[in-house]
Amino acid sequence: PPVQADADPEKKTIIVLGSGWASTSFLKDIDTDDYNVVVVSPRNYFLFTPLLPSCTVGTIDVRSLVEPTRFISRHKSRTVKVVEAECTHIDPESKSITITGMLACAYSSDVKGQNAVSTLPYDYLIIGVGAMSATFGIKGVEEYGCFLKEVWDAQKIRTKLMDCIETAAFPNQSPEEVDRLLHMVVVGGGPTGIEYAAELHDFLVDDLASWYPELAGKVKITLVEALPNVLPAFSKHLIEYTESTFKEQNIAIHTKTMVKEVHEKEIEVKRPDGSIDTIPYGLLVWATGNTARPLIKDLMQKFPETQQVRRGLAVDDWLRLEGSQDIYALGDATATRYAPTAQVAAQQGKYLARLFKQLAVRDELEAEFASATKEDRSRTDRKLRKVKDIKPFHYSHQGSLCYVGSDKAVADLPFGPGGNLATGGVATFAFWRSAYISNLFSTRNRALVITDWLKKTALGRDISRE
Ligand code: FAD
Ligand code: NAD
Repeated sequence: PPVQADADPEKKTIIVLGSGWASTSFLKDIDTDDYNVVVVSPRNYFLFTPLLPSCTVGTIDVRSLVEPTRFISRHKSRTVKVVEAECTHIDPESKSITITGMLACAYSSDVKGQNAVSTLPYDYLIIGVGAMSATFGIKGVEEYGCFLKEVWDAQKIRTKLMDCIETAAFPNQSPEEVDRLLHMVVVGGGPTGIEYAAELHDFLVDDLASWYPELAGKVKITLVEALPNVLPAFSKHLIEYTESTFKEQNIAIHTKTMVKEVHEKEIEVKRPDGSIDTIPYGLLVWATGNTARPLIKDLMQKFPETQQVRRGLAVDDWLRLEGSQDIYALGDATATRYAPTAQVAAQQGKYLARLFKQLAVRDELEAEFASATKEDRSRTDRKLRKVKDIKPFHYSHQGSLCYVGSDKAVADLPFGPGGNLATGGVATFAFWRSAYISNLFSTRNRALVITDWLKKTALGRDISRE
């Protein structure tokens, strides 16, 4: 049976997996007059990840960065069906997926709180499930570290940070225990780790110093990075700028230092000289990049000849899964020559919606061709040849931005033919803010984020433990 209330049996059904950058950008542009569209995602909203580090200290409220998927698709000519569930299995043979959802509010106590499993058929499948935080199998990371990818990660970090501070403020703690609780360690010097450390620094200086004057001087921030420098994808000049800004902000950077194991209260690291050292911590934020989700690894095994890159799904230049005719993949779930960024995912989603428009026109012309008279056929054939010539995906890089603390940001921007403008400082921070405001998906989000920034400036951040 069709899964969509107003599903048209004459039209093909597209199932879109995920409600992140890639899938949402596809959803915004897909024409529902051409297809039945179903979105399956464990979260029923889009999250604007670039500002997520600001939620870990309360600069921005998480609600300001999310937009319900149903809200995004509300103006479509035909309803988009949104199913809040996780896709747990893809069967390319039968062209169906298995989904699992938690029925927390079911009417019957027999099924309440249980996992509900269902199967959905598709004509086309769009995979935009993103990636998971990488741990490289390092012991203790899952158990004791905090990732920074989803809304609940930011909320967990915020709670854990206030836990450490309130526990350190409890009377009669040993000085060693206070030092440990107030040592915030960030692992990974990519943009996620840098932006989190920067936000934490601002919170410490702007707010904690006034509310916990006896502790503020004892709070330490340390960033651990395995490579010789932080932000490896940025220009040399911006790497130096970031490292010197961190030095001024008293954020210690330990480069060429690799975390080997994580314990409840300390991490074990390998220093550049090969020695093993331990670093006690109160809060550990783990930001060492991405790895493929189990669903993706499982699907790869079904295409052993064409899917051999462990990082993610291999796709052709039209984003079609190598080895399949009707599955497409985009964003962080794929392994392409592009970096796993929101910019790439959003452009791919937009491109794929255009490609599906062309496929719909092609199908229509083919039907017309089949029933056309001999004279009409050559005209239809000319049109068909034109529509069959689908251009491959082309990525246009708009630049990279990263917040480094104290109202400063760094930016690598394309400038002129093949050129690059590398800039850092307070003016770049103003540009960073305006770029993110204009990239937010809705006027509602823009208004909320601007209000949060004004609230923070006028009233400071909220230090209550939720
Ligand atoms: P995601 O946005 O992660 O979306 C994946 C979706 O799939 C989610 O809705 C998820 O719930 C859903 N899903 C997961 N599993 C399943 C399943 N089994 N079945 C169905 N659905 C599933 N990039 C930039 O370009 N600029 C930035 O400034 C920037 N800042 C960032 C800051 C942070 C803190 C982080 C973590 C990332 C940042 N990125 C940035 C990277 C960017 O967020 C990702 O590249 C982008 O989110 C990838 O989009 P995606 O749609 O592939 O995946
Ligand atoms: P990343 O892959 O960019 O950086 C992870 C870092 O962790 C690497 O530098 C790596 O050397 C280090 N690392 C790995 N294992 C380690 C270990 N055991 N010990 C110490 N260090 C270790 O990851 P990210 O920062 O999460 O970014 C993921 C993607 O999202 C990237 O493509 C990035 O560009 C994008 N992103 C962009 C922005 C932005 O543009 N402002 C912000 C966040 C994320």
